[in-house]
Formats: sequence, structure tokens, C-alpha cells
Amino acid sequence: MGQPHGLPHGLPLSQSPIHMTPIDLRSDTVTRPTAAMRRAMAEAEVGDDVLDGDPTVRHLETRVAEMLGKEAALYFPSGTMANQTAVWLLTRPGTEILLDAGSHIVNYEGAGAAALSGVQVRPVQGTGPVMDAAALKASMRPRSPHVLQASAIAVENTHNGAGGKVLSLTELQAIRDVAREAELGIHMDGARLWNASAASGTALRDFAACADTVMVSFSKGLGAPVGAALTGTRALMVEGWLVRKRFGGGMRQSGILAAAALHALDNHLARLPDDHANARAFAEAVDGAGGARVVPPDTNIVMIDLPAGLDASALVAAAADAGVLIAPWSHTRVRAVFHLDATADMAQRAGAVVRAALTKTSKATPTRVNASPAGG
Ligand SMILES: *Cc1c(COP(=O)(O)O)cnc(C)c1O
Repeated sequence: MGQPHGLPHGLPLSQSPIHMTPIDLRSDTVTRPTAAMRRAMAEAEVGDDVLDGDPTVRHLETRVAEMLGKEAALYFPSGTMANQTAVWLLTRPGTEILLDAGSHIVNYEGAGAAALSGVQVRPVQGTGPVMDAAALKASMRPRSPHVLQASAIAVENTHNGAGGKVLSLTELQAIRDVAREAELGIHMDGARLWNASAASGTALRDFAACADTVMVSFSKGLGAPVGAALTGTRALMVEGWLVRKRFGGGMRQSGILAAAALHALDNHLARLPDDHANARAFAEAVDGAGGARVVPPDTNIVMIDLPAGLDASALVAAAADAGVLIAPWSHTRVRAVFHLDATADMAQRAGAVVRAALTKTSKATPTRVNASPAGG
């Protein structure tokens, strides 16, 4: 996940009431491995994955490649490293990569495209909440030796910053067509592609067919402690193996970690609709409270847009006081994410708490009169 510039990662647990365990909705990365997952990890068959291969990692890579309909997959320590490897593979130094202005690669990866691959990031603002084919097409520069040339496009599905929004297959195909026409590579950041598939009924492989490389994460909704995979053609993944090593992502007995991902695919993939239902219930409870507006959730992420004059930090602090941890996304937007460790009962209790906190804080905060955008 990413955090907005200049804002705290969330409140320390010590700021929530001591007598109760807080309901932690700051991210779907906060889940702890279950007892069964820990057992699967402890019992994993392992080898040296840098030297000559770890059998459990191989098993995971084969399975993920099959699920996504790609020739090959590589297991990575993080989604960020997998994304950055894809950027390296699909671009050339001194070119640009076009992607949604609110995407993870633009905002939360330490300018990796510039620092690691020598590529300029070109943020594209969608006509709607997410970059669409029309906006992308309008951003294409003319082919000319005087004009900076693009080498790749990236999409994010679900789109985190837009509130776990699912990009439809139709829109993705249209984006792919723009990429093909311009002879550009296309990467899909599918950290939550599992959620997109569960919510839309579109098969993972149909989504994946819209991109040359696809990243999926195991440590978000699937509840594994770490890890992601990058998929694509065999030739790209052979090169990707070297890039992963260069970035420091070669791991030895990594079957211990891959076993958690395999366990998650077997046991946690099918329950993602529960998170989506919990997000909807929470969103309905909160929408309208104190003048706040909730973006109707497609999946497991709920974005709350605050009424004028109420800063995100005030709501986050009030909710934490009442035992619910949510995260500031910007000064005017707060995010709540549903996951393996958040039950339907917790979603309901959290909804009531945040509703009450919104009502209280929006009354306590005087509304700014004549607030001008130019006033900063
Ligand atoms: C979390 C996330 C990533 C990065 O994954 P890490 O494993 O945390 O590095 C990339 N893209 C999106 C959309 C994410 O939400």
C-alpha cells in the first residue's frame, strides 16, 4: 500500500484504548499468518532458489503462471520489486512510461522508475477516476526525434488510490489496443487482481491477457506474510531472473515463504467476496455521517471523503480513540481496508464507530467559510 506524502503511517497502537484490541483497517497488509499457514511454512520442502531452484518456489511459480495464462512466473519478495523489474524489462533508459497519475508506481515506489531504470514517469489523469483508453490516447506524443518517446504503459487493477476500483475487461482491452498501436509494452500492477476477478467474475487469465507482464501480490487480501509474483513470457522471465538478482531479490530457502502463498491460494482466495461484502456494509454505515461521502466500494477498499473543514488526522485520531484504526490517504480522504482478520462483526462495529466519530468531529470542527483553493 502507499501512504500520502507527509502524512503519518497511522497511529501507534499505544494511542488506542488499552482494554481492547483495535480493529485494524489501515491496510490489508496487516493480517497475521494463521496457525495453518505457519504449519504449511514450517513443513515446506526447500532448496536453494538462487543456486539451482527451490521446489516449493517452483511449484508456486508454475501455479501462478497457469492461473494467469502466462508462460512463466517469478516469485519476488515484494510487489514493489516485481513492478520495478517489469518497468526495467519493458522500458529503455531515456524514454517514458505512461500510467495513471494516482498509481502505486508513480506515488509509492521511491521514484524507482527514474532511479533504477532511467525512465521518466508520465502521470496520466483519467477522464473518470482511473486512467482510461481515451485519456491515454490523448496523452500520446507525436513520433518525432524532437519529442520524448514512450516505451511502455502500466495499469493498476484493482486501483488502490481510486478506492479498490475494478478496471473492466473492455476498458483494459481498449488500453491494450492503444499500447499495441503505438508498439509499447504494457505492465499490469495486479497487487489486488484477485479482488478484481472475484468482484467482476472476469477470469484472471482474461485480465492478464491485456498485458505483457502482470504482478500479483500474496501479502494483501490473500494474507501471506510477504511476497508477490511477476508473470509473462518465458523469455521475459529469464531476463527478469537476472534483474531480480541485480535488485537484490534472489532468495535462498524461499520455499518457506512460497508455502504461505500456496496455502493462501488454497484457502484464502475463495473468501475474498467476504471482504467485499464487509466493505459494502461498512461503507453503507458511514456514508453521509457528518456530511462525509463514501466512494461506493467495488472491492475491499473504502475511501471516505471528508466534509469541508475536517482534516483526515482528526477523524483518524477520533476513530483510534474508539478502537478502530483507519489511515489518512490525503488531508481530505481516509481509507479503510477489509481483509482476512476483519470479520463481518468487526466491519459492523467499525462502521458504527467511524459514523459516530464523523458526527462528533464534524460538529467539533468549525467549517471554514470562504475557503479558497488558491489559499493553499
Ligand atoms: C501494495 C501494493 C504494491 C506493492 O506491494 P509491496 O509488496 O508492498 O511492495 C504495488 N501496487 C499496489 C497497487 C499495491 O497496493
